[in-house]
Amino acid sequence: MRKKFIGGNWKMNKTVVEAQTLARRLADRLSDVGFADIAIFPPFVDLYPVNIILREKESKIILGAQNMHPEPNGAYTAEISADMVLSTGAKMVVLGHSERRHIFLETDSYINRKVKKALDSGLLPLLCIGELLDERNAGKTEQVLSKQLNGSLKDVKLNSADDIIIAYEPVWAIGTGVTATPEQAQEAHKFVRKVISEMFGEDIAKNLRIIYGGSVKPANAKELLSQLDIDGAFVGGASLDADSFESIIRDSDISI
Ligand code: PEP
Repeated sequence: MRKKFIGGNWKMNKTVVEAQTLARRLADRLSDVGFADIAIFPPFVDLYPVNIILREKESKIILGAQNMHPEPNGAYTAEISADMVLSTGAKMVVLGHSERRHIFLETDSYINRKVKKALDSGLLPLLCIGELLDERNAGKTEQVLSKQLNGSLKDVKLNSADDIIIAYEPVWAIGTGVTATPEQAQEAHKFVRKVISEMFGEDIAKNLRIIYGGSVKPANAKELLSQLDIDGAFVGGASLDADSFESIIRDSDISI
């Protein structure tokens, strides 16, 4: 059985002190959680200070960065390398988030370089994919997802299903308050698993975690998380508040 994974994408929110306060609160409230893996993705400047809090609290919360550059070092002003991310204590990295794809014009081939670098460096990538509203309305959702998966994961070697996590995030649902229906999300997740099976084999596809992102909140989490192929949630806005993030995490406990 696939263990649920709940990630909080803090985007460009929280100063160092605010980030440490939220991390402390989450570590205190979630220390009993064993049914799901929990990760938080603060801005770069907050990573090391948040790691200090998580270590102090002996928390199992996984720390991740929101992005990284594919090159190891050099003249890339304002960019952050995989080793720099690792040196903060982070173990994961978000790659291909829709805001990176659409605001910062990142392409599948660029994201592909980052995925390879992250894996080589020992960072666990959380790869985001998802269609625009126009693409969904034109009946092109599967075509877009397939293209993004094939492009971002081209020539990537996965030794096991634990080497990567995929987040299906329909762009029209991110930060809009509009959520995919559980049926729409399940259908897309099932399709993603099929493409992964074609690319990496059935065993990896069966065990790989595919999580849903797009306006997940306490009011809709349980239904989404109970779908067969939905293995967790990637939460933006609602992860900035300890109450709502905790509520979503507790809703992923399928034993109750
Ligand atoms: C996200 O940032 O990936 C996201 C899903 O945001 P939100 O939950 O705010 O829609």
